[in-house]
Amino acid sequence: MKSISVKAPSSTANLGPGFDVFGLAMDAFYDEVTLTKTKNGITIVTEDNIPTNPENNTAGLVVKNMIKKFKIKSGIEIKIKKGVPAGFGMGSSAASAAATAVAFDKLFGLKLDGNSLIEFAGYGEKASAGTVHYDNVAASVLGGFVIVKTDPLDVIRIEPPANLRMCVAVPKLDVPKKKTKVSRGVIPKNVKLTDSVLNISNASAIVAGFMKKDPELIGNSIKDVIVEPARQHMIPGYAKVKENALKAGALGVTISGAGPSIIAFSQKSANLKKISLAMSKGFSSANVKCQTIICKPSKGAANKKK
Ligand code: ADP
Repeated sequence: MKSISVKAPSSTANLGPGFDVFGLAMDAFYDEVTLTKTKNGITIVTEDNIPTNPENNTAGLVVKNMIKKFKIKSGIEIKIKKGVPAGFGMGSSAASAAATAVAFDKLFGLKLDGNSLIEFAGYGEKASAGTVHYDNVAASVLGGFVIVKTDPLDVIRIEPPANLRMCVAVPKLDVPKKKTKVSRGVIPKNVKLTDSVLNISNASAIVAGFMKKDPELIGNSIKDVIVEPARQHMIPGYAKVKENALKAGALGVTISGAGPSIIAFSQKSANLKKISLAMSKGFSSANVKCQTIICKPSKGAANKKK
């Protein structure tokens, strides 16, 4: 085999109280990565506005690391077709990294397990976030809802309820180049014990909600008293978007990943168009235009249980 193409979905990280731990793959957008064996070197081909230096591109970094690790002799051309808009908290950099790790595994017949694929894909996130983190890549590789356990890395995947739905509002804002790094900088270094108790109780309830296939329990538990209060000032109109979505029937609302997209959790039976419109109006009140997407959980790039 000389060439292979793999698609990986967008994802939302954190789901409120699960900072750096929870991820959910969403069928809103997909990146497609095609890896082709070449004589030597790593080249990136793309028509999208992302770095083409392999060191600064999440896909490039994944390939670089995997070539080294598996002592691969050939070079690789990485063709990236972006579907996931970069920098909006939809796991764009992660989707490229996830698709690349899965494609590399297939191209060289490595037969890596889910945790190894996630570890390689997570390394790629250094190119965008400055640090390795696994929540988005884990969701994008495995699909569904994921819980990231570290040291050693062990990702637990849970199949989401079939009737879970999300409304995502993606604001038309200029995002800083190192947005994830910037938005990690505003998070408190120390937290109050009472706040941590609240977040742990809600995070536990979210996990229970996924286990019990209960969108209401998931949605009602999307409450974060640690990270969201520190970050919400970075998103103009945040309070209004959240208030509007809840009034329109959303079960829970939070920042998607490091933002600036805002995500509302709901279920198939709700009036999802009404929720989306309410979110748009919330952004309009702060003079911000936005795109809204109604989506559901997605399968992953590897389509593996673990
Ligand atoms: P997101 O929530 O979309 O992942 P990040 O801030 O983590 O947002 O990542 C976006 C940043 O990562 C952008 O500055 C972009 O230039 C950089 N980047 C590097 N490689 C890629 C890639 N393959 N796809 C998307 N963004 C990438």
